[in-house]
Amino acid sequence: MYRLRDLKDIIKIDINYVECPVKGCSKIVPRQRKTFKREKKFFCPEHRIYISPSTFEYETEKENLLWTDNKDEQRFNEIKTVKRESRISRDNSEDALTWNVFRFLDKLGLLSDFILQLLGKETNDSELILWSYSPNEKNTWDDLNKARLEFGETITRGSEPDIIIKTDKVLYFIEAKLNAGNKTKPRDIQNRKKYETGGNELFSKIFKFDYEKIVKEDRRYELMRFWLLGCWIAEKLNLEFEFYSLVKKTRETDIETEFGKHINQSDRRKFARITWEQIYDYIKTLENTEKQKLMIDYFENKTVGYTNGKLKKAFDF
Ligand SMILES: [Zn+2]
Repeated sequence: MYRLRDLKDIIKIDINYVECPVKGCSKIVPRQRKTFKREKKFFCPEHRIYISPSTFEYETEKENLLWTDNKDEQRFNEIKTVKRESRISRDNSEDALTWNVFRFLDKLGLLSDFILQLLGKETNDSELILWSYSPNEKNTWDDLNKARLEFGETITRGSEPDIIIKTDKVLYFIEAKLNAGNKTKPRDIQNRKKYETGGNELFSKIFKFDYEKIVKEDRRYELMRFWLLGCWIAEKLNLEFEFYSLVKKTRETDIETEFGKHINQSDRRKFARITWEQIYDYIKTLENTEKQKLMIDYFENKTVGYTNGKLKKAFDF
């Protein structure tokens, strides 16, 4: 994995060419445009990366992951049997960040402590369900599948929260963003599936406004679906539901009020914002082990590609 210290601060880009971002490398490749292409002509054979003016992509996913021992690899491959396609081998991938951080917490048995310290609840029996894969069930989490069907989605194309943590008291959904924002709209605005009718019209109980306003006007399609499906599953399992938007410290500082205005929260269900920087601060308080140091170094030296030829740090520490 290439980090801040390995990469050029500035890369030369002209109309036709772009240079390899790794320090000391003089390889120049044709400039690619629009959708990222993994083609031989964009590849630096020495550094094993595909290059574009704004990012680069490793030859394999493993190179972008911190945790790759046998058990990690096994879990990662299991997840990939259910996870939607993603660009996890790209420098600016939020999925790679999610895996690197949450796999660390899970691997070290820190999920309950993380919840206590950052989300403020004492819980037990945490199961980490990344991209809908349940390690306990060795499949897509069945309760999520039931929710997908209840609200008119299909299982293979249904809503896929990045991070679910199921505990004995609370069901957590955490939607992770790095560069993208939380404003999304459906491909087909007319196809409302059963969002408004499923679960005995749960929609009308947990939202303050109608579908038009939330999805069409305010473009909260993704957040709407997770709030709806999460509330439904939690109620069925007799758990509280907490939904977190995980973002950078500088991004979407008003998301709690901006999405909060659409929903009916109670002491059994809430929506809140949490930042990657808060997780970094938490990890800093942990025992100083090899893995902890690796994690801290990753946060501090993580990059997210280039803007106008200038290297971008993921976080401003
Ligand atoms: Zn190179």
